[in-house]
Amino acid sequence: MKAHAIMIALPYQGHLNPFVDLAVKLASKGITVTFVNTEHAHHQIARSQELPDAGSNIFAAALDIRYATISDGFPLDFDRDLNFIDYWESFLSDFPSRVAEFVGHIISSSDPSVPSFLVSDTFAAWPAMVAQKHNLVNVSFWTQPATEFAINYHLHLVKQNDDEQMINYIPGVAPISTKDLMSHLQESDATIADEIVFRAFEEVVKADFILHNTVQEVEPHTLSSLSQKQATYAIGPINFSTKCSVPKSLRRQVDCSEWLEARPHGSVLYISFGSIAQTNRQVIQEIAHGLVISGVSFIWAIRPQIVMDDDRDVLPCGFKENVRDRGLVLPWSDQLYVLSSPVVGGFLTHCGWNSILESVWCGVPMICYPILYDQPTNRKLVVDDWKIGINLCDGESVGKEEVAEKINKVMSGEASDCIRKNLKEMRTKLQDAWSENGSSQINFDRFLRDLNDKI
Ligand code: UDP
Repeated sequence: MKAHAIMIALPYQGHLNPFVDLAVKLASKGITVTFVNTEHAHHQIARSQELPDAGSNIFAAALDIRYATISDGFPLDFDRDLNFIDYWESFLSDFPSRVAEFVGHIISSSDPSVPSFLVSDTFAAWPAMVAQKHNLVNVSFWTQPATEFAINYHLHLVKQNDDEQMINYIPGVAPISTKDLMSHLQESDATIADEIVFRAFEEVVKADFILHNTVQEVEPHTLSSLSQKQATYAIGPINFSTKCSVPKSLRRQVDCSEWLEARPHGSVLYISFGSIAQTNRQVIQEIAHGLVISGVSFIWAIRPQIVMDDDRDVLPCGFKENVRDRGLVLPWSDQLYVLSSPVVGGFLTHCGWNSILESVWCGVPMICYPILYDQPTNRKLVVDDWKIGINLCDGESVGKEEVAEKINKVMSGEASDCIRKNLKEMRTKLQDAWSENGSSQINFDRFLRDLNDKI
């Protein structure tokens, strides 16, 4: 009998992307997958990819991936970003029982291939309860660096020592200053993010297997320390584990191929702050002025809601006329396509983990401007530990002169050469991981064997 996974995705781009890629990887190994998106996420994908809303399966028919949608309890036109707290409160309280019922329904209608394991995002609040209720093996998938997993895993230690400036007691994690911790650990008041992470890490200790979207050779000590606690498998970067591409963008990607093709090799800076992070108007304007001063060509993906509660044009007056065809501003890009272009020579990023993996894979040096969540810690890994990027600003605030200086520094010159050398080594680690005897390949096969023994 074929193994059958039920995968329930979180409706955020940075989580959905690796989740979809994991589904494809599992299916490519002969596993049946039932992939569940929220109705709202599916509606966004269908709209951006011009698929029929009802009845469409985002996965190619050649793969044994069934596709289903579940209501998150809110109407389609409810603004989930604006009402983040209400949304997540419901995700923590009401959604788990909705998932349990939905999974029961999938199981009863899945004859003859009955699902045997559940794959959930580590941030989900339901895996242990649902897995136990339906007798499923519980697999947790962590989509950020193992470093952040390990810090969250030892939250009790961080809370106990909260007056220490340097955290040097997390097993397998190099000393890290409190200012580089994830944002939920830097807030003095309890926030919904605290609650989400706390619940997630109460859950994850009950998982049978934990998959990490990172690479053994990139975070060896952290991973080996985690594997002493629970069954741990580094299987990243999962989006490069198969060649199959599935439509999963929640926003319509604007084609910029013609603009890119006309530029010289290594001459373009790409800028994006990912799918969730918001910043303020002044930061955007300083970056814009810095771009003008730098003289560098750029593609800038600016989401409509990049600045909170502000519908006005966020760019300085006259900016577009000033840069003319030296710059292309668009709401959302096909980021991997852009980064893969030899024309792109630098990436100004908010340090989302997928963005970092994509940048390393494509050999593009980074300028880091972390905003929240895991991004401050990711910045520390990129700039301080791996030395494959630089900070956008070394002080507290973003200033146009420094922005221009950093842009030029990353695009060419001595510092840029040094970063590119380190990047080459890191890129080899990532690319080797999915080669024939690579660590992610080996870990994935080991996971499948261990899973088989358990189901
Ligand atoms: N992305 C994209 N187009 C954009 C910006 C981002 O396709 O204009 C993709 C990007 O390739 C990445 C994901 O969205 O895979 C963002 O994930 P990440 O972890 O970098 O950041 P998050 O959005 O979770 O903060």
